[in-house]
Amino acid sequence: MRRGSLLLLAALLVPAALHAQQTRLEDLHGKTILVFTPHPDDEVFGAGGTIALLNRNHNKVILAIYTNDDKGSLDPEMSSQRLARIRKMEEEKSEAVLGTPKENIMWLGYDDGMLEYAPQPHLVEQATEIIRRVRPDVLLSVDPGQWYTRWHKTDHRMAAFNTVDAVRAAEFWLYFPNQKLQLGLQPYRVPEMYFFYPAPGEVNYRVPIDDVMDLKLQSAVAQVSQFAPSEDRYRDDWDAKDLKTTEDELKQLQPRKDGHAVEEFRYSTGFNQE
Ligand SMILES: [Zn+2]
Repeated sequence: MRRGSLLLLAALLVPAALHAQQTRLEDLHGKTILVFTPHPDDEVFGAGGTIALLNRNHNKVILAIYTNDDKGSLDPEMSSQRLARIRKMEEEKSEAVLGTPKENIMWLGYDDGMLEYAPQPHLVEQATEIIRRVRPDVLLSVDPGQWYTRWHKTDHRMAAFNTVDAVRAAEFWLYFPNQKLQLGLQPYRVPEMYFFYPAPGEVNYRVPIDDVMDLKLQSAVAQVSQFAPSEDRYRDDWDAKDLKTTEDELKQLQPRKDGHAVEEFRYSTGFNQE
């Protein structure tokens, strides 16, 4: 075929390919969604409304949480062990509000702030195994950036890179071949990815969350230890004034588009091979 004909054919195929694009994320039914999150709360702040919609539509949402978030307290009476227990309990409550049962939450158990210093071959092997076991139709994770590194704080950047490295490894059985030979796990290609916490210039997908904004707020404030005054001196409840102030601040922070509250993502079906 001549080059001109090829170009014409390509031009004809592009609209068809666009038309065949996936069902919108918030309209999926009966699918398996795997969410990787650095800490127990990032998926709530970044994608909590979307998770609520996915659960409402009878998808199976499974969470893989890298760290136990056991350092972020200013309370001199707090210990890491106690904070990890508190964070786990709060996360289970928070996700229950969004419709995710605690049985669907996997804890990898790394210390807060230390993900970057965990043994990296083991870390990527773990995430690869999770992907090969769960075999998600859709994967959500922190955004590593499209063309340039998205500079997150420590656990966020490590979680972002490790997850996409595992997505790549999961596809080729020769990465961690023991998973096939000993565990019977087949290679798996993740078809679609939505990255939360994207760089502002790389947002290419927005999920309207007006219908579930109240649930998102309720879920976020269930992470009591993440907000003042509990961060300063732990208490497991809110007083009404602090709660109202926090909810108002969270509402202000939620991105909006065309008058609607939205969650912003970078959508991708693959990643750069350079
Ligand atoms: Zn975080």
